[in-house]
Amino acid sequence: MKVLVPVKRVVDYNVRVRVRADQSGVELAGVKMALNPFDEIAVEEAVRLKEAGIATEVIAISCGATQCQEQLRTAMALGADRAILVETDAAQAEVLQALAVAKLLMAVCEREQPGLVILGKQAIDDDANQTGQMLAALLGWPQATFASKVVIVAGRAEVTREIDGGLETLSMTMPAVVTTDLRLNEPRYASLPNIIKAKKKPLDVLRPNDLGVDIAPRLTILKVVEPPRRQTGVKVADVAELVAKLRNEAKVI
Ligand code: AMP
Repeated sequence: MKVLVPVKRVVDYNVRVRVRADQSGVELAGVKMALNPFDEIAVEEAVRLKEAGIATEVIAISCGATQCQEQLRTAMALGADRAILVETDAAQAEVLQALAVAKLLMAVCEREQPGLVILGKQAIDDDANQTGQMLAALLGWPQATFASKVVIVAGRAEVTREIDGGLETLSMTMPAVVTTDLRLNEPRYASLPNIIKAKKKPLDVLRPNDLGVDIAPRLTILKVVEPPRRQTGVKVADVAELVAKLRNEAKVI
């Protein structure tokens, strides 16, 4: 069984994001980029399935500008066998939306015929939380989102999900789509020898036209603004003063 893992290039989570002066989006020039953290978890899960003898091949795929090759190399250093870049122009990459990515992934699924697609539950840049769900719908495949455990038994995927007040376990036929929650696993670090080996692993480049997919954006971003600045706090002498302030000034009790 092949496992396909879509990985997104995003601003590194340690970077303090700045909004562009024209409010068209966030500043990307000179900013450190990284593999979306939920996608690292997805790669780790796929690699563990291969190590367990369940998956035969792990394919990482990214849609976006040429620089996404860096994140694909990282995915291969973490254990993916090969990679596919669906390459767009830099300008197209900035406005690549979840539906377009899902359509590109669908076209690649039709070519590669994976038994499982494992995506992150969301990309930390735009927090869309849509791509996995759209992909499953387009393919007509079962989906289990926010997975905290994945077990493959007798050709079915059993997925545990953390839901309000407990754990839900679903059983799906395969091929299927899974999206990863934070607690699914703890991704390994890429070792230096594996980083070097990853440079030699195959990386195929396709264009959206090769897949016959229209990636034109369907939504227009009107503006992006910074969150309001936090007001400076005050220190209170004791509980009585705190309660008085909450009652008389904040009027919340
Ligand atoms: P989103 O729906 O944008 O929050 O992203 C959810 C997941 O879809 C991510 O964690 C990735 O696994 C995948 N994904 C989103 N955008 C891309 C992209 N441009 N290339 C590859 N995978 C992507």
